[in-house]
Amino acid sequence: MTTTSAEAEAPAADGLPSVPHWIAGAVTAGSGERSGEVYDPALGVVTKRVAFAEQADIDAAVAAASAAYPAWRDLSLARRQSIMFRFRELLDARKGELAEIITSEHGKVLSDALGEITRGQEVVEFATGLAHHLKGEFSEQVSTGVDVYSIRQPLGVVGIISPFNFPAMVPMWFFPIAIAAGNTVILKPSEKDPSAAIWIGRLLQEAGLPDGVFNVLHGDKTAVDGLLTHPDVRSISFVGSTPIAQYIYETAAKHGKRVQALGGAKNHMLVLPDADLDLVADSAVNAGFGSAGERCMAISVVVAVEPVADELVAKVRERMAGLRTGDGRRSCDMGPLVTKQHRDKVASYIDIAIADGAEVVVDGRDVQPDGDPNGFWLGPTLIDRVSTSSRVYSEEIFGPVLAIVRVSSYEEGVALINSGAFGNGTAIFTNDGGAARRFQHEVEVGMIGVNVPIPVPVATFSFGGWRQSLFGDTKAHGAEGVKFFTQQKAVTARWLDPSHGGVDLGFPQN
Ligand code: NAD
Repeated sequence: MTTTSAEAEAPAADGLPSVPHWIAGAVTAGSGERSGEVYDPALGVVTKRVAFAEQADIDAAVAAASAAYPAWRDLSLARRQSIMFRFRELLDARKGELAEIITSEHGKVLSDALGEITRGQEVVEFATGLAHHLKGEFSEQVSTGVDVYSIRQPLGVVGIISPFNFPAMVPMWFFPIAIAAGNTVILKPSEKDPSAAIWIGRLLQEAGLPDGVFNVLHGDKTAVDGLLTHPDVRSISFVGSTPIAQYIYETAAKHGKRVQALGGAKNHMLVLPDADLDLVADSAVNAGFGSAGERCMAISVVVAVEPVADELVAKVRERMAGLRTGDGRRSCDMGPLVTKQHRDKVASYIDIAIADGAEVVVDGRDVQPDGDPNGFWLGPTLIDRVSTSSRVYSEEIFGPVLAIVRVSSYEEGVALINSGAFGNGTAIFTNDGGAARRFQHEVEVGMIGVNVPIPVPVATFSFGGWRQSLFGDTKAHGAEGVKFFTQQKAVTARWLDPSHGGVDLGFPQN
């Protein structure tokens, strides 16, 4: 299957550049004939093709990661960390290049692309200090002359499967910790925006990472299933939609793997009557329409405790009038949606809202974008008086559509949040510390903001939701990330002592 770099990146038959796999420190076109189209969503045209892995490519990636594992595992922790330090410095210096790649395939505006890289970089920084987190435990003299201690060791080859909406940050939630802990990695990025992963592979190599420690396999269900079922892949870290997360969890677990599978979301912002409505309106607009709503921590429902809704809707609408939707390279506020199909699906919820009797305050279909007319545009959309029986309320839309639900009390708002399928993020806006404290205690959601609309925890904490937003019991990064990518040994040791007790078939009684 060996291909030269030039062959792997040669234009496909239709003249489009192709995005190759990255296996054992080199690009490869792979063994298969199948490929996917990569769009520039702001132009609405196919700009590249991405190779789709077949079984031979999956086997080659796993073989490369397996071959690299023993030497990488046995390299000193100090040396592994120093490579993370170099990677951090290179990434920081050159993140503008990566942001441009992200914007050209995802569509998000450049400043937002830089923001996602910065959040991923935090995890790289965490991994530079992994020695602290890998420290074991030690208990002296648990029995006469006997000590017990624990050791954390890597798993081996680990798989990461990531979604389109954060092509740099989500892989960086996982691989810095996995690699610094001594594992070798196969990343299967989204086929919609695959190039960021290859750029990262090259940068890791430049930072001194040995070949085969980080590999990228592109593709669809074939590539994913290949990783889920391969006997030499020890764990799977997945981020994506809930139905696929559940499938990943069940299939990987059935094949004996450790799994963390983060799913979809429908995040509510609860607004109490005493809140600062200017802060709320700014926050709702930022969290609802940033990245065109294609964020798992986007706010998609504002739950307004009356009597604030009329005033709040007016303030949100006023701010929306100032938003510029357009090409992410033109200093706009919001870019296009990722594909035409996704744009049309998101827009269809506006018709559903009308049919269900909601009030469309701002209709994003009327947007005049600052960009190519063929781009996948949908402007910020505000829908008031959304019924909780409407699909606009219950389903994850994953676009720039903000719903307002009016309730009469704090209790009604919390009951609503706790009754949904998802439990990723939520926020309360209030000036009442007691109410905020009660909310954090009562709400059944994994990440909570108090006057903070997108409460993504910093890298020293762990990221993950509850209920159908996370399958498995381990969140991403922070202490839970270290636990996920290591397995523990407990050693019970006694050094020769003349007082040992001779033969005794019973459990020791100290
Ligand atoms: P997706 O589930 O369609 O795809 C995610 C990954 O799974 C991709 O790599 C894709 O190639 C693969 N995949 C898709 N269909 C598959 C199938 N049938 N079998 C095997 N693999 C398959 O998700 P997406 O559209 O790329 O991303 C958006 C979704 O991700 C949203 O639901 C969003 O909420 C969620 N998300 C969640 C978090 C979180 O932390 N909980 C973070 C980011 C995104």
